[in-house]
Amino acid sequence: MRKSKFVFVTGGVTSSLGKGIISASLAKLLQARGYSVTIQKFDPYINVDPGTMNPYEHGECYVTDDGAETDLDLGHYERFLNISTSQANNVTTGRIYQTVIENERRGEYLGKTVQVIPHITNEIKRRMLLLEETGKYDIIITELGGTVGDIESLPYVETVRQLRWELGQDTVCIIHLTLIPYLSAAKELKTKPTQHSVKVLQELGVQPDILVCRTEHKLNTELRKKIALFCNVNQNAVIESLDAETIYDVPLMMLKEKLDKVTLSKLKLPVKSEPSLENWKDFILRVKHPSNEIHIGLVGKYVELQDAYKSINEAFIHAGAENDCKVVVKTIHSEALTPENVSGKLDGLDGVLVAPGFGSRGIEGKIEAIKHIRTNDIPFFGICLGMQMAVIEFARNVLKLKDAHTAEVENGNKNLVIDLMEDQKEVSIKGGTMRLGAYSCDLKKGTRSYQSYGKSKIKERHRHRFEFNNKYLADFEKSGMISAGRNPETNLVEIVEIPKHRWFVGVQFHPELKSTVESPHPLFVKFVKACMDYADDKSRNLKKMR
Ligand code: GLN
Repeated sequence: MRKSKFVFVTGGVTSSLGKGIISASLAKLLQARGYSVTIQKFDPYINVDPGTMNPYEHGECYVTDDGAETDLDLGHYERFLNISTSQANNVTTGRIYQTVIENERRGEYLGKTVQVIPHITNEIKRRMLLLEETGKYDIIITELGGTVGDIESLPYVETVRQLRWELGQDTVCIIHLTLIPYLSAAKELKTKPTQHSVKVLQELGVQPDILVCRTEHKLNTELRKKIALFCNVNQNAVIESLDAETIYDVPLMMLKEKLDKVTLSKLKLPVKSEPSLENWKDFILRVKHPSNEIHIGLVGKYVELQDAYKSINEAFIHAGAENDCKVVVKTIHSEALTPENVSGKLDGLDGVLVAPGFGSRGIEGKIEAIKHIRTNDIPFFGICLGMQMAVIEFARNVLKLKDAHTAEVENGNKNLVIDLMEDQKEVSIKGGTMRLGAYSCDLKKGTRSYQSYGKSKIKERHRHRFEFNNKYLADFEKSGMISAGRNPETNLVEIVEIPKHRWFVGVQFHPELKSTVESPHPLFVKFVKACMDYADDKSRNLKKMR
């Protein structure tokens, strides 16, 4: 008897149909029915991980507790399921080939010709089944990146074909996500692209069990019948997936369409109790009908691309719901900020978050923004590079170290208040070598951070090479910027605060990666609260002036 059942989610017709959200929604429903579920993603590109990719290419890079740099879909999995994922949850073609080539160099294939089938497919298979060995999961959902029919996807689809035969029909369920386009000229939904996409899968020896159809209009019975007939699936396995107001609606929409029930029946698993989704529904209600509204600026250099700051935007949704407040995020391009225009560009905002990032582009704009925020007592939250820029701004304008800088862009002739970490000095390989994953941090009592978390020992995820230079710490603390949290082993400063300011917190780690629907991140929750209080103060003062 196997310990786990497997669901594979493939995509057809176009990319960007939301396989990640469908997978996470199905997992949520199965979890709410009492199954223990996890999700993994297999990406067909040749990069070993997305850590070396520009955010414009691939959106945000999501980091797990164990320090894996992964696809942003893992963020959805964690936010929906409130579980931690790991290196094993994200595999790329690059990683598969890397392992196979290392095996070959060690002579493990005993003189055989190394080929896509069986060597690459066996390594894919080994990794697809890996999480089963933990013995923790009833159901493992595997999302295949890319679109069926792509050259790069072929070995993955082939592995799914083999697994279906090896593990048996009742152990494997295949879901195919497709698009049913609406032709406005003909006023008709069209099923042909779906038929073709299923045919491509069938030609590869894979028959999907369930079709999830993305559509802008409802599918009527006739259409469902037609899709079922042409694609060899039961009519109840044609699932409609309408465009949603928020991604958090999708689990409830899938519940209505019975995606979870149909999946369980394919896997010959009992339906168990009705899913308990009361907290989830309550959360959506608070997202959709908040009593308050605030406007927060997000200063970054990748603002053109929505996905670049995915986890930050989602963390604001969680924190907003917790505060019964809609958080309107206004993106501001850091490159466009100058001393002359900064006050205009930040005008009317109730708080500002300065985003993470790499390299020199746009950093002077971030520093300008922080100067304005600090001197005007506007709530500030700096993350990673955002925190480092707050340190530089303070050094330049309060400590009067005019040449204060970061070693990321300047050399040792300057006051490097942000310096390269000791253990990074010998590193020359770029991929997977930053300070990555969860590290402990001890919070100082009485600080905003301590008040937010309500405890002194925390763990947060990191992704950086540079750090606060402790040589300057005493000078900073004397002048009003303090260290509010440090790593107990290395003494690295992980959080800076200005106690005199209404809310000025910069963190070296990435709190956004740990915010979920069930546990909104405490720093985001308190930052949003500080912005709401500031908004109230502003309107009170305005009334007084009238
Ligand atoms: N570039 C900075 C560093 O490597 C900050 C990284 C980040 O914002 N994630 O330290």
